[in-house]
Amino acid sequence: MAEKALAQGTEELPPPVSTAPKAKRKLWFNVLVTLVAAGYLASLASSHLARVGSAVAPAALQQAPWAQSTPADVQCPAQPKALHPPKKVEWTDELRSSSIKLFQEAVQIPTESFDDNGEPDEDPRWKPFFHFQKWLGSAFPTAWKAAKIEFINTLGILATFEGSDPSLKPLLLMSHYDVTPAPPNTFDRWTHPPFSGHNDGEFIWGRGAGDDKTLLVAQWEAITYLLESGFKPRRTVILSHGFDEEEVFARRGQGRIAPYLEERYGKDGLLLVIDEGGGTSDDFFGTPFALPATGEKGYLDIVIEVGTDGGHSSVPPRHTGIGIMSQIVNTIEDHPFQPKLTKKSPILTSLFCASEHSAKFPKKWTKLLAKGQKGWDKVADEFAETTLGRAQIGTTIAVDVINGGVKVNALPELVTAQVNFRIDFDESIASTQEHVARLVKRIAKKHDLKFEAWSDNNSTIGSHYVKLKTLGIPLEPAPRTPQSGGVWELFAGTVKASLHAADGSELVVSPFASTGNTDCKMYYNLTKNVYRFVGLSAGSSFGAHTVNERSSVKGHFAIVDWVHAIIQNTDAYDGPQ
Ligand SMILES: [Zn+2]
Repeated sequence: MAEKALAQGTEELPPPVSTAPKAKRKLWFNVLVTLVAAGYLASLASSHLARVGSAVAPAALQQAPWAQSTPADVQCPAQPKALHPPKKVEWTDELRSSSIKLFQEAVQIPTESFDDNGEPDEDPRWKPFFHFQKWLGSAFPTAWKAAKIEFINTLGILATFEGSDPSLKPLLLMSHYDVTPAPPNTFDRWTHPPFSGHNDGEFIWGRGAGDDKTLLVAQWEAITYLLESGFKPRRTVILSHGFDEEEVFARRGQGRIAPYLEERYGKDGLLLVIDEGGGTSDDFFGTPFALPATGEKGYLDIVIEVGTDGGHSSVPPRHTGIGIMSQIVNTIEDHPFQPKLTKKSPILTSLFCASEHSAKFPKKWTKLLAKGQKGWDKVADEFAETTLGRAQIGTTIAVDVINGGVKVNALPELVTAQVNFRIDFDESIASTQEHVARLVKRIAKKHDLKFEAWSDNNSTIGSHYVKLKTLGIPLEPAPRTPQSGGVWELFAGTVKASLHAADGSELVVSPFASTGNTDCKMYYNLTKNVYRFVGLSAGSSFGAHTVNERSSVKGHFAIVDWVHAIIQNTDAYDGPQ
């Protein structure tokens, strides 16, 4: 309701939305929990895009030509037949041990990236990254020699396996080799030390095990096994590894590699890009699913500034700057964006898929889904009853930083707050800014303060004001990956052939979405076929960005199988590019 009234330009503020928790719906709460385990939402903590001095958005962050296209069909896409590749990985005990060893070694190199890292050649904290590069070459000599290896901006790793047919657009597989720091003051909370790569028989333990080294190592293993069995690519295969994905803004790793590749292959020059992201769940409303992210929410950070007169606190006004800021924060939190399921949301499509294929999908929701937008709104309201569900649908608001006042006997002259928004698929940076400005303007007016929003110039507007400013580089919601056509069939068919539920049954492949952002945001100019998908099953990976990170050995083998299959099938693909 809040959103609708505001969009119509009503001056009166709508009544605050109740924040009282309703009864939890256990079923989809469990669904969401499995998704978290599968890697979704893990990036919530990581993807701070902003706070970078440079205000120039890299080319790839500007809107790609297909960004605004609404998918004609929100229904569950047709499930293609499993597409079996010519070769399978022949797992022997020996191969399994060597695969585990490679995975452990990768985790043992402490490639921690920090938000304040200096240049690659200057800051000694980058040293382990050079070790990692060296290790990679010696761990995978066959592939390393077969590829053209380029180091972009010193630490970005680009490995190109040239295909014999240059008319075929390349396949690009992404992963990052930096990890979030493991602070020494948390070491005692780790069951096994963060860079031990300890193997307990089920999991490899260590920072970066799940995010994202299991994927990177699996990619190199898969291409190695293929080359060793005589595979000669027809279509170029590219492995691309950033080194600052976990930093505030991926501007030096994939931020440099993507434009470099755009120069080499041109706009829309790649067939398919696959990055980290979703996985599989054996229990998506009771049925096994693969949930590749075919969309990503947008991102916006803002600063709110309240300027008021200082002075002696023995003669205070009725509201100090801090009091006014409190009202602003209160108003923003009380008028959240509506939870939304619209044609633009891949989550809606995943619900259509569950309705069609899942054993335990609520019948009530199936009926509501058939009713169009009105029914979808009702499902959205129920879906959003948990915090996790809420984060999936609709723009979220998080007031994360507040500052103001210097002394208890002096009135505050400047109060600032920083707010983070994850923008819904059906919203935009502009609509988010508009929503906030309308709310804040009202409070400014009430206190007779000048109001300025999103102005570029650093103008002074006196000492009585409320200002809204954008922080860093905002990001529009990602263009949605097509869910029909040749490349979809190639992708989904390969998932069905190479990954299975624990009981061996075939997976339903459904579009899904992540709330965070990955490095693939740099690639929207290069293809519309972007999938965020690791292929790990729920329960395979724990502790991303926190203590006791670990990722399963079985899951690792599964990723190798999946990458091994997608490289072959993409090589054989003759459909539309
Ligand atoms: Zn990651």
